[in-house]
Amino acid sequence: MFQINENYGKLPGSYLFSTIAKKVGEFQAANPDADLIRLGIGDVTQPIVPAIIEAMHKAVDEMGNKETFRGYAPEFGYDFLRRAIADDYREKGCDIAEDEIFVSDGAKSDSANIQEIFSEKCRVAVCDPVYPVYVDSNVMAGRTGTWDEKSGLWSDVIYMPCTAENGFVPEFPKETPDLIYLCLPNNPTGTTLTKSQLQQWVDYANRIGAVIIYDGAYEAYISESDVARSVYECEGAKGCAIELRSFSKNAGFTGVRLGFTVVPKDIRCGKTALNSLWARRHGTKFNGAPYIVQRAGEAVYSKEGRAQIKEQVAYYMNNAGIIKEGLTEAGYRVFGGVNAPYIWLKTPEGMDSWSFFDYLLKEARVVGTPGVGFGPSGEGYFRLTAFGDQENTVRALDRIRAL
Ligand SMILES: *Cc1c(COP(=O)(O)O)cnc(C)c1O
Repeated sequence: MFQINENYGKLPGSYLFSTIAKKVGEFQAANPDADLIRLGIGDVTQPIVPAIIEAMHKAVDEMGNKETFRGYAPEFGYDFLRRAIADDYREKGCDIAEDEIFVSDGAKSDSANIQEIFSEKCRVAVCDPVYPVYVDSNVMAGRTGTWDEKSGLWSDVIYMPCTAENGFVPEFPKETPDLIYLCLPNNPTGTTLTKSQLQQWVDYANRIGAVIIYDGAYEAYISESDVARSVYECEGAKGCAIELRSFSKNAGFTGVRLGFTVVPKDIRCGKTALNSLWARRHGTKFNGAPYIVQRAGEAVYSKEGRAQIKEQVAYYMNNAGIIKEGLTEAGYRVFGGVNAPYIWLKTPEGMDSWSFFDYLLKEARVVGTPGVGFGPSGEGYFRLTAFGDQENTVRALDRIRAL
């Protein structure tokens, strides 16, 4: 008789977005005419820009022609895309070789899969609140111990609380981690670290022999000059950091699917380079991102592509400004929204994350995301996203101000 992976049974279940959907559904059933504005989901809304669409059309035509048809893509990505990515790093002053870049179908799968090249004994450290994938993928791998329903914490995970009290800057944990997940700029808090703060984490990881898994999905939203656009801007990062990147948030590829992971050859455990382990894993379990999509990715780095996606990012960041300003005027304490499309607000005195969710839904007909859904330190906070369209964002903030 077969047995299942018992670790899956430990997962408490991702209740966050299903609970939100259920609550919103009930509200709509009771108030069929309610004009709801959704500022909850982390998905983009603007169409893909013309330079990228044009590149995709061209690639589609190539697929219909015997001379230019392509079958399986090279397992680590086409040279034209890896070269464009490496050039982009070079422009940032980071020396990343093409064979350190692994093209994939997105950062969610890479962030979930990367843990499997490490021992099951590795101790994992995450920020709290956190993007749930980092924790859940380690649960599935049996690395997290037992779940405590009361605290909402796993016994074998090292948590680094990020709250207004510490300025959302994680502190070095008391216990010594082997793997440290950092998402910067951060989802859900919308905050980030300065380059010198990030440098301290790189130094710390090198000192203790840990690997930083650096999720840079929101790199395109960085506006401040003292914030690093890549972990490799920090000295010594090539010896300890893996960087995950995505085309979802900078170019609207959430439905197209493309990302990449950088595994520098310098990160070694004894004689073994992590780069060769990830290459082995990628080659065995992944058969390459589609040619059409990689051509689309190449266009992200073209002159026209860059200019057009810059405008799109600016559009979302203008929404972020509208949200930040509106909430501040309404008397809320607001964080994020400067280097990220997320605004993280402190809920009013005496209201926890879910009470505020209910309040906002009922009184303003605005849907957001309760902070506690991302971890216990998110309690008393609430996330709004700048990914909506401008008109609705303005209307939502008018309503919140009028409460
Ligand atoms: C959206 C997001 C990603 C991107 O995931 P894709 O699979 O590339 O769409 C990665 N990490 C975080 C924290 C995100 O919010």
